[in-house]
Amino acid sequence: MHAVVFDKPGMENLRVMDVEAPKPGPNEVLVRVKFAGVNPVDYFTINRGGRPMPHIPGAEFAGVIEEVGSNVRGVNIGDEVVIYNRLFDGTCKYCLIGHEELCINGGLIGIVTNGGFAEYAVVPVTNVIRVPKCVGLDEAATLPVGALTAWHMVFDRAGVRPGELVVVFGATGNVGSYAVQFTKLAGATVIAVSRKANKVRNALIGLGADYVVTPEEAQVLVNELSNGLGADLVVDSVGQATWNLSFQLVARYGRWVTAGALTGGDVTLSLPSLYSREVTVIGSTGGTRIELIRLLDLLSKRRIKAPIYAKMSLDRVKEAFDVMFKAEDRIGKVLLMP
Ligand SMILES: [Zn+2]
Repeated sequence: MHAVVFDKPGMENLRVMDVEAPKPGPNEVLVRVKFAGVNPVDYFTINRGGRPMPHIPGAEFAGVIEEVGSNVRGVNIGDEVVIYNRLFDGTCKYCLIGHEELCINGGLIGIVTNGGFAEYAVVPVTNVIRVPKCVGLDEAATLPVGALTAWHMVFDRAGVRPGELVVVFGATGNVGSYAVQFTKLAGATVIAVSRKANKVRNALIGLGADYVVTPEEAQVLVNELSNGLGADLVVDSVGQATWNLSFQLVARYGRWVTAGALTGGDVTLSLPSLYSREVTVIGSTGGTRIELIRLLDLLSKRRIKAPIYAKMSLDRVKEAFDVMFKAEDRIGKVLLMP
């Protein structure tokens, strides 16, 4: 099969080549990958290495079941599925409370196993979720990293509520473009922050943003809309580059939430600025299976949109990363088509 493979860490070592297709074990299925999302997590995997090595990256994909293992029940050859990308044992303390994303024996498909930048991928049957008829596999392929991370972050972790003033940093990104939609869906007033505000204003308003501003403009707007009090919730997965500004925007008794650190993870926190304002700083990672099922349902009812920027063949994988990181007008997902 055709696959994206690297034998040592580094983007320069990425090759598109023919390798042997994997075989499903008794509790696994073989998926013919139709669309695979390109995400920063894949970039980090390529630069840090994955298991096994040589490694096939790709933490987000959807496709059609091609073969099922001998113990597999409940799904059939030909079913259209999207992959829940957290491996989980179903028995640890966190799995038992429904938080597979925290499983102590977990890990991400595409990092601790071969991923979806290939014609075929093998995954545990517990990680496949059937895609409703009226949802495209391209749309479904945008959910497991971008949408699920955003959903879990703003609803489960940060508990966004109607009427709140919410600021979303990195609003054009895979997670940000969904965080804008979801906080709007919750009834919040949404300020989308992007360096590219002028180029992406209309598209972000189309996703539900009430205001679209550059980081430089954010402070003034938040002050204006809140009578100087600040934002109830700040969503920021950009990291180091925006931390000082974004943390400062949080109102008294407000929340600051992150699910990533694209520009670097080490920041300085002044404890008095935390406790004297009673600010809550919240971490979030991935999401649960039931949340992914809910997202498919919302997509099937057209209550949310799956923003897709480009679809590219597997051979153009390096270009796909360039487009993801550098395209000035990008909103939404770059998809590979194996
Ligand atoms: Zn577990």
